[in-house]
Amino acid sequence: MMAAETKTTCPYCGVGCGVIASVADDGGVSVRGDPDHPANFGRLCSKGSALAETIDLDGRLLFPEIRPSPLPSPRKERGEGYSGVTTHISSLAPGSKEVAATFRPPSPRVRGEGKGEGQVSWDEALDLVARKFSETIAEHGPDSVAFYVSGQLLTEDYYVANKLMKGFIGSANIDTNSRLCMASSVAGHRRAFGSDTVPGVYEDLEEADLIILTGSNLAWCHPVLYQRIASAKEKRPAMKIVVIDPRRTMTCDIADMHLAVRPDGDVALFNGLLAHLAKSPALDDDFIREHTNGFAEALAAARTSEADIISLTGLSQGDIEAFYRVFEGTQRVVTCYSQGVNQSSSGTDKVNAIINCHLATGRIGRPGMGPFSLTGQPNAMGGREVGGLANMLAAHMEIENPTHRERVQRFWNAPVIAAKPGLKAVDMFKAVADGRIKALWIMGTNPVVSMPDADSVADAIRNCPFVVVSDIMRETDTTQYAHVLLPAAGWGEKDGTVTNSERRISRQRQFLAHPGEARADWRIICDVARRMGFGAAFAFENPAEIFAEHAALSAFENGGDRDFDIGGYAGISPTDYDVLKPFQWPAPSFPLAGKVPAERADGGGDDCALSFTTPTRPLARTPSPQGGGKASAIRFFANGNFYHPDRKARFIAVESMATERVNLAYPSVLNTGRIRDQWHTMTRTGKSARLSSHLAEPFAEINPDDAAALGIADATLVQITSPHGKVLVRALITSRQPRGSVFVPIHWTDQYASNGRVDALVPPVTDPVSGQPALKNVAVSVEPY
Ligand code: SF4
Repeated sequence: MMAAETKTTCPYCGVGCGVIASVADDGGVSVRGDPDHPANFGRLCSKGSALAETIDLDGRLLFPEIRPSPLPSPRKERGEGYSGVTTHISSLAPGSKEVAATFRPPSPRVRGEGKGEGQVSWDEALDLVARKFSETIAEHGPDSVAFYVSGQLLTEDYYVANKLMKGFIGSANIDTNSRLCMASSVAGHRRAFGSDTVPGVYEDLEEADLIILTGSNLAWCHPVLYQRIASAKEKRPAMKIVVIDPRRTMTCDIADMHLAVRPDGDVALFNGLLAHLAKSPALDDDFIREHTNGFAEALAAARTSEADIISLTGLSQGDIEAFYRVFEGTQRVVTCYSQGVNQSSSGTDKVNAIINCHLATGRIGRPGMGPFSLTGQPNAMGGREVGGLANMLAAHMEIENPTHRERVQRFWNAPVIAAKPGLKAVDMFKAVADGRIKALWIMGTNPVVSMPDADSVADAIRNCPFVVVSDIMRETDTTQYAHVLLPAAGWGEKDGTVTNSERRISRQRQFLAHPGEARADWRIICDVARRMGFGAAFAFENPAEIFAEHAALSAFENGGDRDFDIGGYAGISPTDYDVLKPFQWPAPSFPLAGKVPAERADGGGDDCALSFTTPTRPLARTPSPQGGGKASAIRFFANGNFYHPDRKARFIAVESMATERVNLAYPSVLNTGRIRDQWHTMTRTGKSARLSSHLAEPFAEINPDDAAALGIADATLVQITSPHGKVLVRALITSRQPRGSVFVPIHWTDQYASNGRVDALVPPVTDPVSGQPALKNVAVSVEPY
């Protein structure tokens, strides 16, 4: 039996692995890693290999629905009991290479499933959404409406949502759950480089002699990158790995050094490193002089006494010195950082403290060197590229820059352009709560679970006069409060592009029919825009046309002063888009007039030798001093061509400060995060019995000494309380967790386990620069239940 094969991209983490999906004649679907995709070369983790187990139609939203009012009693009473499932805590070994899995959906993918009581036609639903938004804007102004979107959207979806809000409604009130993920990295990049540019590529991880993983449980959260590093270390045992994390996570299994830093002690640690480097031969005076500004000020701020560094980091003098020595003595250093850095009230300062050390040593933009932000979501980067954040414009242009605003408005031929940054996620929901936002459209995300102060967010949404939710699932913690539900196409059902952590743009391709009446997000948004009177600007027939416009905007009047440029694709045809190979930006000079480098969606190929990735400006590559590196790799900043007007990078002066939150009433630090086999709020991964067999219910990791002091036995229930809420979870007693702290995963919702939403405990504290919430340093109390 022949199976039709489609090359596509995994919809989960920011590694962006290539996947080959096969659909057999009997409808059975299987997935395997794409051996040709440069992100994973055939590897998949447990989540990626279980994709076929998550595509059934159980629970899917298949028809538009209008509900007269949100469901009653939306706010759960806390402490009402426990409804978790049987404990099954299996081996916690990090994801190894998974074999292909075949799965036949138990629920047929047929029209007619999932019919809701409020089912209406698309015309009725879209008319109502357009009318309510138009009326609200007319009565209360453009800032009275908002879109809250998602790193799960494809770039084309993001592009039209951003265009509608910023260029036609005239507000910048569009923000995304990526605000919870990488906003601090964006802000840190922009401060240091003058652009939101990730300087690294995945090859750097294999070429480095020292990899520092700070605030990153790579083994569970970016498993294929973990596999790539583990494999490189196996081949070159001299490669050193340092993990900086309060917890001893599975990533530490390949570490030469684990620094169990205190929560938010990272700035002090890297400031101390900068001061150490300033006295060492590793300082690159030529690079600092020729390519940077602000070194003296940053160094003055970084100088902290030894005693203060020890106190702020919680590390021993010996460990600190050993770390500083290995950094000083190793030329090829990559410092990877993820949510442990970003999700902090000092997240942007942490990012800049790390970048400062790479600038001071000139270890940036060359093979095996550089700071490297690892994106959490599959398309957080793509959303950034099209201005999906409330404080950015499309194509990495800046909303505060009047020239950029005028340029984007002129390109779009838009009636208006947002004149100021919009509300970032936490502030957006505060504005919903206090009535400033009166119409809200949530796309592809579940803020009632994932936002800090989640109970207040639930109340805000419930009381909002008009709420639209586009989703693939009918009953989520958020859809229950919608006035209008719009069924969105899911992974495997839609076409578009995503960008991974190394700036690589890959196609997601459709290989399944739309179930029921589900539609692609880009089409839903364009349908509403047309009904609001903006038809000409949203007359897209397919995602290829949107991608072509996005590419054209990236090159529009881009004299090399902006980093994001894929102008070579501005004229791409639907046929070429269909067979588009993964490529990295910038790609300003792709010769569309010639032969198109392509892969066939059916798995065939076209081995055209043209490079998508060779930049022409201003990113010329400098060979590594040690030689090495592949000619095809792009390394930013090799010649110091940064994106501030003077083409120089900025050192940022950051203060080493304590962020002590615990007190007598709430004496433990709560840290939240992901587990290996679940994704976000489990709407997809929760369908796989295989994935749920890893860790089957919400839990709290507790240090054995703390457990003994609190009278908590392993696998019993514990209640964790903060001033904002409480959760009830199973105790998992482990010495991997440091004393005085607990770790609770983010995935469970009240649908899976009553009182399982850990973000209900988190206060709405944010980084003052990026607006990213501090989700990893929360004061709580822990007690037996
Ligand atoms: Fe998907 Fe990330 Fe796993 Fe790759 S590492 S298969 S992108 S979840």
